[in-house]
Amino acid sequence: MRLNSLRARVVTWYVGMLAAALMVFGATLYFGVQGYLKTSLQHSLTGEAQAIGTTFLAFEEQKGPAWMAGEIIEAYAPELSGRFIRITRHDGTVLYQSGDTRDGVIDASSISRPDFYDGGGRFRSERQAGAHDILLYAQPFRSTSGTNYLIETGSSVAPIERVLSSLRGILLLATPLILIAAALGGQLLMKLPLQPLVTLSERAEHVGTSKLGERLPVPSTHDEMERLALSLNRMIERLEDALSHNRRFSADVSHELRTPLAIMRGELEQVLREPVLRSSVRDSVASTLEEISRMAKIVESLLAIARLDSGVDSIDPKPADVSTLCQWVVEQLHLLAEEKEIVMQVRTTPMTVLIDTARMKQVLVNLIDNAIKYTPIGGRVELTSFVSERMAVIEVSDTGIGIPPADLPHVFDRFFRADKVRSRASGGAGLGLSIVKAICSAHGGSIAVQSTEGAGTVVRIELPLALPTSDKPAASTQTMLTHTSIS
Ligand code: ADP
Repeated sequence: MRLNSLRARVVTWYVGMLAAALMVFGATLYFGVQGYLKTSLQHSLTGEAQAIGTTFLAFEEQKGPAWMAGEIIEAYAPELSGRFIRITRHDGTVLYQSGDTRDGVIDASSISRPDFYDGGGRFRSERQAGAHDILLYAQPFRSTSGTNYLIETGSSVAPIERVLSSLRGILLLATPLILIAAALGGQLLMKLPLQPLVTLSERAEHVGTSKLGERLPVPSTHDEMERLALSLNRMIERLEDALSHNRRFSADVSHELRTPLAIMRGELEQVLREPVLRSSVRDSVASTLEEISRMAKIVESLLAIARLDSGVDSIDPKPADVSTLCQWVVEQLHLLAEEKEIVMQVRTTPMTVLIDTARMKQVLVNLIDNAIKYTPIGGRVELTSFVSERMAVIEVSDTGIGIPPADLPHVFDRFFRADKVRSRASGGAGLGLSIVKAICSAHGGSIAVQSTEGAGTVVRIELPLALPTSDKPAASTQTMLTHTSIS
């Protein structure tokens, strides 16, 4: 349904935008944390180097390197705290160097020794055998007596890597979960406000020509949805008015034409009974009478359709057996078939439907009459009935001339004749199928036609069953009637 695709589109947009926002947020958070941790470590290493310089190295010459080493170990315990500290005098003598850290992350002996230089502190990074990077900071220091030293502090970046890897894991796991939850939530949230629209479109589908009396449900939401339902209802009302006006008009016209036609027919019949009448006058009166009869038939048909459509003529449904009905119709029309050497076959399943038998006979007679009319000599006409999807189905099929595809949608229209010349010659005014359809609709049923030009036509009627029957084919009676076997 279109509303579902609208919902899917909106949710896709919403989830797409959320995904983009989450990616921007995740990247900002990740690189922000990475920068913060790196800067913190750098601050800690520079702070440590400066403190060592001012607190201990300044007194190295007075108190000796052993004193200084003891103070550093006491203050920083580098092996325990995972740090690296090295102090080198400008002559290359290493005054102090921390050992390997206890966690084994820093192998102190493998750390390279930089050249002496003047100026500010420098950072460098060295990869250890365990594939951990060590961030090292070197800071030149000059004592009051002018001796130059190089203070180095270092720390593994492994803890930072661990924090960042956990953060990556959380972001990679949480982002899809948030997106899935958002998609499901979005579907649900969209479903609720769109539900009235779904109900509205479903009900609008059902408001067909025969159900124009129905109205759409109006949600009291005081929004566009309520206004839409109200406007649609007003539109249906106008449509219903126009349609009923149209039906009333054709019913009135047909009704009004009946009396003058009957009077004309009576008068002309009287003229024909005159003993002294010129033969040319007699011929012309007879032909006028024929035309009047044709017109009267059309008027009667129009009146019947209008009355059925408007519900003035209600049908009188009673339980009836479809097989019996089919047999009756075939018996009535077998002579017609015989004349054209058409084979008529009936295959029926006993089933009960609630029908107005007289009108349903009219329907079947009309359809079989059409089938015979439009099937060439030696063809075949079949009348089949069965149960399908809890409906009684009656099919009339023939091997006749068929209906051109362009004409198929119009065969139920009033006065429609697929082949006007031939139809007129065969006496039809194009109202037969309109009556058939009106009767089927009045029974709560439906009618459809399938046809292949040059191969044949199938007209299918579906009627509600009086009693629910299974779709399994019941024992069917099969009768073969041919133009020879019946006589
Ligand atoms: P009519 O009373 O003039 O036959 P209908 O309403 O019964 O009019 O049918 C409308 C048109 O549909 C006909 O003119 C005919 O061309 C076509 N039609 C109906 N039934 C058949 C059929 N079984 N085979 C071929 N054409 C058909």
